[in-house]
Amino acid sequence: MRNIASVPRVSLGLFPTPFYKLEAISARYGRNIWIKRDDLCGVALGGNKVRKLEFLLAQAQADGCDTVFTTGGAQSNHAMLTAACAARLGMDCKLFLKDRGVTGRRGNLVLDEIYGAPVRLVDTDDYQDIYREMEAEAAGLEARGHRCCRIPLGGSTPLGTLGYAAAARECAVQAMAAGIRVGHLVSATGSGGTTAGLLLGAGLFLPGARVTGMAVDPQPFRETVLDLAAGAAALLEASFQPQEKDLQILDCAGPGYAVPDPAATPAILELARTEGILLDPVYTGKAWAGLLAQVKAGGFEGEGDIVFFHTGGAAALFAMDLPGASN
Ligand SMILES: *Cc1c(COP(=O)(O)O)cnc(C)c1O
Repeated sequence: MRNIASVPRVSLGLFPTPFYKLEAISARYGRNIWIKRDDLCGVALGGNKVRKLEFLLAQAQADGCDTVFTTGGAQSNHAMLTAACAARLGMDCKLFLKDRGVTGRRGNLVLDEIYGAPVRLVDTDDYQDIYREMEAEAAGLEARGHRCCRIPLGGSTPLGTLGYAAAARECAVQAMAAGIRVGHLVSATGSGGTTAGLLLGAGLFLPGARVTGMAVDPQPFRETVLDLAAGAAALLEASFQPQEKDLQILDCAGPGYAVPDPAATPAILELARTEGILLDPVYTGKAWAGLLAQVKAGGFEGEGDIVFFHTGGAAALFAMDLPGASN
């Protein structure tokens, strides 16, 4: 197997991110719950895409790219972080975002502008339309001597997935130092790469830990996650066979992707008011509410502690309402 540290990677974030026990929450729910603060990874408002981009943009640099294209929803955290990271590396960045659900120039759209990335809003429900448009524009630029890197939705390729295998390794080191046994790794699942990376990383570095993806999009993720984990394992030449029982995907989408769920609001308020931590209404709020619901229902069997990966997303708080949050 190839050492994950030997895979080319460009340093963008401040790692390791903090890892600590949520004391008040753990006492309240009678279960040891830890948090991995990837929202504090030091780029923009933080978030999980930075770990993926460390691998993806290293590849782009090796390929001699001067321009980065990516896509997402109008309020895409991934697109915003790609713009931030590309700017830092002196690369041009252009974003092709879904026009649906645009609520004015707020949240991440403001940040995209600050980071200097032009945004093209595409009026479609189908990312294939966006990829076609991206390809046409990339071809035009390449005909004029540029080189373009195309990063798909969420940076969820096998290479990007390595970011979360590396995160699991980082967490394993911290758990060892803290003297705890990790039983469960929990994160939001949006395009699958984070959960897939954690699954691979758990298999390699946290034997016995299981992975739960809280799906914030009402689509089947199991196969996507398993495929991405297998693809990332192949890059490491690792013999890795995820067991069915090691991966759990729970539906936390509520009323739909990127539609705030009033049922998640109490959990968002509770974490803010007990631990001072902000969650967002699209990803981490739904995932955290899902985690608490599982804990209350006696889920996450076994003795190991639970680790919640805070994957960022705070800009959404400035782009949409938090239903039911008024005191
Ligand atoms: C993209 C994103 C996720 C989901 O990660 P995937 O790797 O796409 O599944 C979770 N939380 C936040 C804040 C995100 O921006």
